[in-house]
Amino acid sequence: MDTNTKTLLKELYGFSEEILLRTDEIENDLAPEFQIWDDIKTYNQYKVLHAMQKNHLSDMHFNWTTGYGYNDIGREKTEQVFASVFGAEDAIVRGSIANGTHALTLCLQGVLKPGWEMISVTSKPYDTLEKVIGIQESYHSLLQNGVTYTQIDFCVDGGFDRQRIQSALQRGTHPKMVYVQRSKGYSRRDAISMANLKELITFVKGIDPAAVIMVDNCYGEFLDIIEPTEIGADLMAGSLIKNPGGGIALSGGYICGKKLWIDRIAQRLTAPGIGKDCGLTFGTSRTILQGLFLAPGVVSGAIKGALFCAKMFETMGYSVFPEIGSVRSDIIQSVGLHSEEEVIAFCKGIQKAAPVDSYVTPIPGEMPGYEVPVIMAAGAFVQGSSIELSADAPMREPYTVYFQGGLSYEHARIGVLSALQEIKKLQQNNI
Ligand SMILES: *Cc1c(COP(=O)(O)O)cnc(C)c1O
Repeated sequence: MDTNTKTLLKELYGFSEEILLRTDEIENDLAPEFQIWDDIKTYNQYKVLHAMQKNHLSDMHFNWTTGYGYNDIGREKTEQVFASVFGAEDAIVRGSIANGTHALTLCLQGVLKPGWEMISVTSKPYDTLEKVIGIQESYHSLLQNGVTYTQIDFCVDGGFDRQRIQSALQRGTHPKMVYVQRSKGYSRRDAISMANLKELITFVKGIDPAAVIMVDNCYGEFLDIIEPTEIGADLMAGSLIKNPGGGIALSGGYICGKKLWIDRIAQRLTAPGIGKDCGLTFGTSRTILQGLFLAPGVVSGAIKGALFCAKMFETMGYSVFPEIGSVRSDIIQSVGLHSEEEVIAFCKGIQKAAPVDSYVTPIPGEMPGYEVPVIMAAGAFVQGSSIELSADAPMREPYTVYFQGGLSYEHARIGVLSALQEIKKLQQNNI
């Protein structure tokens, strides 16, 4: 950090010389890791750029139609560009897909028919899928529709349980889907690296070539220079208010994969016989594509912010997960704080560092689906956008706070400094 910035941070935000010097040290230590993420960003930036050029993206694609939305060239172009970036045969990209859960649900319901088996090989899927699958009862669950569900936990060493996967695949002759959640989400497990995923895909296809491999790619986009559909996954899906929307997309989800499955999912998205040919974009093609264009840089900034957060809190004696040097599959950084007061202070600091609603104070509150009060800090341009700087925590032991996002590294960094400053204030008051 140069002296002008340091002076500004001291004058406007009251950061101490000590913390700013520590920032320099940490950034020095992290330089080799930062270089890796800069290289991934650079590669992906050119990958996205080339996909737009190859598909002859033009100004006219930012216009939109009305009514049924037939021949919406902007919508079609957006889907072609996504397919190219992710090395897939086809894609569905719509602002009308409400969120990541909706995109994943479309895939599951579009593929799985009575008699099929869904085999989750990454333990329990993300919470919001419980009612979709039928882990929690619901009228439209897969279980209600005659699909069976098998869940396979990781081995004690954290790897895939190949033995159980093999026997599940060999049991019966019915069609099967192998479901993989790339991101660790809020569980304490290792990342599914692209190398591990590739091995898994080879293993599964070796046993049952017809098995459909589907990946929940939420938070995983642009964390590597390849994506699941480039190494043999049949389908993947994610949210546009996470990584691939670059903080610009206002809403939506995407699905990429083999043409056969994309066609069938599209029949489920709209109606049989209609598929991808209808559906208004309401003029969102420009922002979705602009977001995709910026996404590699935004994701890299957010990861660097997560690393800075991990290193800073680690040097202050806190436990962090993932640790520095481990494989990262998503942008979430958790920090083990020492008390409820520290969790509140951390979130207060993040809120103070936001561009929007920086003057409000987050407080723990009841949330549907949670047993204990939850505190959330976010001052985002897009509501609920977790690619923007945010933090959240359930108010219970072990007082883990989840830190994520930042549209730029600089913003994520000031968020960390601000969170730390609030914790220091608390400690001083307690002496
Ligand atoms: C965010 C997320 C989802 C979907 O969540 P939405 O809030 O519906 O977008 C699913 N799986 C993982 C791993 C996620 O991170």
